[in-house]
Amino acid sequence: MSFNINYKRKLFLYYFSIFFILTAAFVVFQYEREKQFRIAQLESTLNGVTDLTNNFIVSNQLIARNKTELIDSLLQIIPTIHSRITLIDNKGKVMFDNFVDDFGQMENHLERPEIQKAKYSSTGAGSNIRNSATTGQVFYYYAHYYDAYFIRVAVVYDVQIKNFLKAERLFLVFIAFVFVILWFILSYVTSKMSESITKLKDFAVHLRQNKTLEYDYQFPENELGVIGKQIVEMYKKLAETKNALSLEKEKLIKHLLVLNEGVGFFSPEKNAILTNTHFVQYLNLIADKSSIHPEHIFEMGELKNLHKFIKKYVQKNDVAINPHFLPQLEFTLKKGGYYFVVKCIVFQDKSFEIYINDITKLEKRKLLKQEMTSNIAHELKTPVASVSGYLETILNNKDIAEDKKNHFIEKAYKQAARLNTLIDDIVVLNRMEEDVDSNDFEAVLINKIVQEIVEDCEGRIQQHNAVVKAEIPDSVTVKGNDTLIASVFQNLVDNALNYAGDNVQIKINMYHQDEVFYYFSVSDNGIGIPQENLPRIFERFYRVHSGRSRQMGGTGLGLAIVKHAVNLHKGEVSVKNGTNGGAEFYFSLPKYVG
Ligand code: ATP
Ligand code: MG
Repeated sequence: MSFNINYKRKLFLYYFSIFFILTAAFVVFQYEREKQFRIAQLESTLNGVTDLTNNFIVSNQLIARNKTELIDSLLQIIPTIHSRITLIDNKGKVMFDNFVDDFGQMENHLERPEIQKAKYSSTGAGSNIRNSATTGQVFYYYAHYYDAYFIRVAVVYDVQIKNFLKAERLFLVFIAFVFVILWFILSYVTSKMSESITKLKDFAVHLRQNKTLEYDYQFPENELGVIGKQIVEMYKKLAETKNALSLEKEKLIKHLLVLNEGVGFFSPEKNAILTNTHFVQYLNLIADKSSIHPEHIFEMGELKNLHKFIKKYVQKNDVAINPHFLPQLEFTLKKGGYYFVVKCIVFQDKSFEIYINDITKLEKRKLLKQEMTSNIAHELKTPVASVSGYLETILNNKDIAEDKKNHFIEKAYKQAARLNTLIDDIVVLNRMEEDVDSNDFEAVLINKIVQEIVEDCEGRIQQHNAVVKAEIPDSVTVKGNDTLIASVFQNLVDNALNYAGDNVQIKINMYHQDEVFYYFSVSDNGIGIPQENLPRIFERFYRVHSGRSRQMGGTGLGLAIVKHAVNLHKGEVSVKNGTNGGAEFYFSLPKYVG
């Protein structure tokens, strides 16, 4: 409220001063005019006195008769004059003065201003206001020049403000009355105006407290009110747009935070404005340090390219940014087994975005694909060459013995079969990479699968004089893909039969379980795997004795499939040689929960 009072008082003071100055100017002007008028009036009266005195002198020939002192008698006849009358000849000598007895002794009066003025003015009259040396009072001197002499009249000067004010009392009362009326009008107008201003002030206060949109503003119907209404409406629109914008911004920020890529926005001064967690994580990996700050990116020796780019486009003031072709940088970086792609875009205001993405998987997959393609080609070459070799021998030797011919055909058939399994394995591996979706996992009964596999292998088991002991409770149910899980057990049993040797015992167990996983083992007591080959045994196409293994029809993909399948189920697989020398495989698979 103090604002309101203040504002009103100020407005009043402002108008009042204008009014006061105008009135004062008017009074001064009026006073000056009045003064002029009175002087004119006085002069005309005094002129009457000089004329009268002159007539008296002329008609009584006072000069010629040298009887100027007789002027006194004129003043006695007309006592209303009450003035000092001085007669001065044109040389300045005083010839009579009714206030001074021995006027003959008075100093020369030619240099008195009123005498000088009277002598040289066209009207023959002159006046002057000054202190009288004789009486000490202020006198109004009026002199008239009559050819041979000057007649001067002096009266006490009383054109005083006091008298003027007395005369103009009515005028002052009128002025006061006008002022009161004006004051009422003014206070009405100011309160009307201040109402709008107060509302605007309220609005501003609410604005600061962020409560504007709940407040209903009714402005008075005047220009200020209209302006106020417009301002409030404009503000409301602005606030709505701002809200919509910040919502969009929030969405963007949320999006940035869940992105798998690292993104950081920086000001032209290289201060971090916004960075997501991946950005910092990737920086840690690149710098090989933990707890790194986003702005440390500008000190990392690994990113010299980036620093140069920023120096060129952000830090140099004379480089303008074309909004249609924002400067961009992109490069890949290899650090400690990781591959990163780093991008930088400079925006028009010289703020910039740095993007870092971990492309290790992609890069590795690319390498693997290349390796796999060459491996496949290599693996295909041998069986295809043998098949065509056998067939060529048969074709070129028409009279070949029947049993030999059959032998070659059998060999060719074996190689073709090998090709078939190889292609099957490749298909399984590829499908695992692309198709398998953990959402499609279902309940898989392990014992059932194992029993089927053992049954299928019955012939080979007998052939190797092996014993298979599968002791898995019927209730063991895994959540997974049954084909993949079957291939895990199948491959391990196949390997034991193929490589462990004859007369072996193969055990299939569920040796442990926890809340989440079942832990299985497939072990044999055969020849085992040489210690130095163990670390690479799960690699694609990796075989211990490649010649022997190939003879057995192996391609080195079996354990790769096992590892991949177990990993797809979030399990782990490992291998070691048991105390009795045979290979022992351990792996976990997730429990199926009803
Ligand atoms: P594929 O399984 O594709 O037919 P493979 O059997 O040769 O071919 P893997 O199953 O990956 O390939 O096995 C890799 C190698 O590990 C085999 O060549 C073999 O030398 C060795 N190996 C695997 N299991 C055993 C085991 N139980 N005892 C001894 N060596 C084994
Ligand atoms: Mg195998």
